[in-house]
Amino acid sequence: MTRVRFAPSPTGLLHIGGLRTALYNVLFARKNGGTFVLRIEDTDRARFVDGAEADILASLAWAGLTPDEGPGSGLPGDGPHAPYRQSERTDLYDAAAATLLDAGRAYVAFDTPEALAAMRDRGDAYSAATRGDLDNSLTLDAAEVQRRLDAGEPHVVRLKVEPGRTVAFTDLVRGDVSFQTDGVDDQVLVKSDGLPTYHLANVVDDAAMAITHVVRGEEWLPSVPKHLLLYEALGLAPPRMAHLPLILAPSGGKLSKRNADKAGIPVSVRDYRAAGYEPEALVGFLGLLGWNDGTDRERFSLAEMAEAFSLDRVHKSGAKFDLDKLAWLNGQTLRERTAAEIADRARAAVEARVGPVDVEHLAAAAELMRERITFAHDLAESPYLFADPETVDDAGVAKRWKPDSARLMRLYADRLAVLDEASVEAMEAALRDLAEAEGVGFGLVVHPARLAVTGVTVGAGLFETMAFLGRDTCVRRLGTAAERLG
Ligand code: GLU
Repeated sequence: MTRVRFAPSPTGLLHIGGLRTALYNVLFARKNGGTFVLRIEDTDRARFVDGAEADILASLAWAGLTPDEGPGSGLPGDGPHAPYRQSERTDLYDAAAATLLDAGRAYVAFDTPEALAAMRDRGDAYSAATRGDLDNSLTLDAAEVQRRLDAGEPHVVRLKVEPGRTVAFTDLVRGDVSFQTDGVDDQVLVKSDGLPTYHLANVVDDAAMAITHVVRGEEWLPSVPKHLLLYEALGLAPPRMAHLPLILAPSGGKLSKRNADKAGIPVSVRDYRAAGYEPEALVGFLGLLGWNDGTDRERFSLAEMAEAFSLDRVHKSGAKFDLDKLAWLNGQTLRERTAAEIADRARAAVEARVGPVDVEHLAAAAELMRERITFAHDLAESPYLFADPETVDDAGVAKRWKPDSARLMRLYADRLAVLDEASVEAMEAALRDLAEAEGVGFGLVVHPARLAVTGVTVGAGLFETMAFLGRDTCVRRLGTAAERLG
């Protein structure tokens, strides 16, 4: 039974890279009929941020990636391996640390921060080469160690890494990977506050929660030798692992907060939501940021992507973030929304610009503009759909409004006023008839008509727009423009 997990630390808002990791876990779970677990890795109390867990849950839910087990899954107790917050699982880590100490695979160290700083100043690391000269249970006799522990002296537990070994595994993305243990420090497993470090808690929980596949960002690859040594020392079988490629800035280089800001790329999922991105568009985009199905296909629903997904098609090299592509996907996604859905998303922005608008009118505007907008809130960029234009585009007037335009627009208004039916076709026919009757080219009437009705030079089809606005509104606007522009 396939079990995967997303294991964020609640240290801030969920990052776009975190959402991609969660997504690949979901895709792999769905493809294999498995379970997607959410585990909150909150043992680093110094970096803990209040509200971060709530943001993770809300962001996952918004993206359609609600966990099968974990906080927020809706299962009793959050699921069969509860609790899913590491701060509530410390007994397990204590027991694992005790097992490692008993087996001689870990030791207790009392070194002060000053002594450790001096060690680093000498260019040393805490390892087989140096541990014999430091203040730990390998150099002190047992009675002294016990005395210090009983006296409550600050101490940590460290993994005893044997040098001269090769640790190898096959990454499901990167292939065969091996590390020399000479390069691995005697990692801290339990900190002086008694809480486990990431390494110990992560390994203990992946085993305890029966995780079969660890799918996570490439930045965790250097931790793998430590984890493999821990699994071995604890007598546990390690899960399979897959490390996802970095997300790169458009300019190359890791997508850090700084170069994301520079490229105008939002970093937290919450910011995408606030900026009006459709969750399906963002999810489809992130899926292709490091994977494809072997074709040029650019749009997938979550279900389609899960169906096509395999880890061996995940790329090894970094994936460049392309905001234009995301915008395009967003526009494509909107085209498939109902007008009512678009209207619902656009309402706040539109009303902030033009005041209260009628539900049906807003939905009709969404229908009119759906092919032309990237975001639902783009509807607010066409305020003339909801209120008479207060100004007319100067450049448009200079170019398109001729000495005879006011007269022609008054005549058009007269023709519209007597139409039996104000359909798209009838409004267009009325303008064509006018041009013919007056012996002028169609361009001399159609451009002024658009300027008069919308105040701008671009938009949806003019007659579709006019039919949407209704005859009375068009007649009024044509008259107002004729008066204003003369
Ligand atoms: N807590 C780690 C993080 O914040 C988890 C890394 C892993 O998936 O092992 O990303």
